[in-house]
Amino acid sequence: MNGLVDTVTPRCTRCGLKMMTSAHNDTLCGACQSEPPAFDQTLVVADYAPPIDSLVQDLKFRAQLPLASAFGGLLIRAAGSSLQAADVLLPVPLSRERLEQRGFNQALEIARPLARAWNKPLIIDSCVRTRNTSPQAELPLTQRRVNMRGAFAVRNRRIIENQHVVVVDDVMTTGHTLQELAACLKRHGAAHVSNLVLARTPIR
Ligand SMILES: [Zn+2]
Repeated sequence: MNGLVDTVTPRCTRCGLKMMTSAHNDTLCGACQSEPPAFDQTLVVADYAPPIDSLVQDLKFRAQLPLASAFGGLLIRAAGSSLQAADVLLPVPLSRERLEQRGFNQALEIARPLARAWNKPLIIDSCVRTRNTSPQAELPLTQRRVNMRGAFAVRNRRIIENQHVVVVDDVMTTGHTLQELAACLKRHGAAHVSNLVLARTPIR
């Protein structure tokens, strides 16, 4: 699985988008420079492309749960020692409806090995997805930001207040989901939000 990791192409440190030119030695993409997102950092393991896209679908839609620990291992390796200072791990929550339908939250399953390896607590019930938003992939890009508005709520502020929260997810597409979640966490007092994502779609 380690062959899936692309460590060659530089990515924006804020949003994880691949940057083809590093003429100015920039660490931020143009979009993050002009309109900084609510999260502070994004680490991405690989592009959402073959073969990782079908492996992610095997985990999500065919419940191939052993893949979650392999993905967790990739995230641990990608993060190295860069997230040692983090306080808590937050797998992106699913709505109650989606959780009942699928039977598990793939982000939580991927985050479990991280929590064990780093000995950091997992936030499971203190932050929730309050409504069952349309799957982002089914919407035109222009509607995805609107779709996510108000999608998350923090139930126990004390768990994230003044904390460095690492948000764990399987796939990042436009980043609107992670933006909405990070904005919600910051509103409730989180000091720093880092995203740790298995795969990112190559174009915004
Ligand atoms: Zn960026």
